[in-house]
Amino acid sequence: MTALPPTADAERAANDRPIDAESIARLLAAHDYRLTGPRRAVVAAVLAHARPFTAEQIVADLERSAPNIGRATVYRTLEILASLDVLKRVHLADGRAAYVVDAPGHRHHLVCSRCGDVVAFSACPVEQLVRDLSRDTDFAIEGHLLEVFGLCPVCRSAQSALTP
Ligand SMILES: [Zn+2]
Ligand SMILES: [Zn+2]
Repeated sequence: MTALPPTADAERAANDRPIDAESIARLLAAHDYRLTGPRRAVVAAVLAHARPFTAEQIVADLERSAPNIGRATVYRTLEILASLDVLKRVHLADGRAAYVVDAPGHRHHLVCSRCGDVVAFSACPVEQLVRDLSRDTDFAIEGHLLEVFGLCPVCRSAQSALTP
């Protein structure tokens, strides 16, 4: 497999990864998924993104470095990684569905609506609400989604530099 060209995003990802390729390989093995060459390539492509990415972006990344990997394999591998909780589904500010690499566990994400920078947080502000809802409605609640959008510090200062 050809290495992806180094980008600022990839460097940032390498320094600040919530999980690495070896940990993902161990998780796949623990769940009886074989670490095939194509899956390994998808994992590498995913780890090169420090910011949210779409499945189509991974397809495009691999078209350059590993053109023999089909779109269906990419989508299926992303689904497997999401089921193992190392990819979280997020929505971009424009509503597009995307993934972000994250450590397993219940997490929410603060997403910069301009540059896509992501901050994960594990404190769940919805827990009490979910307990109350379950008690009041008798629903067996299975999950919830919460995302927070805003401008990151870099984008904020870029914006204030533009205003006189
Ligand atoms: Zn930003
Ligand atoms: Zn939560």
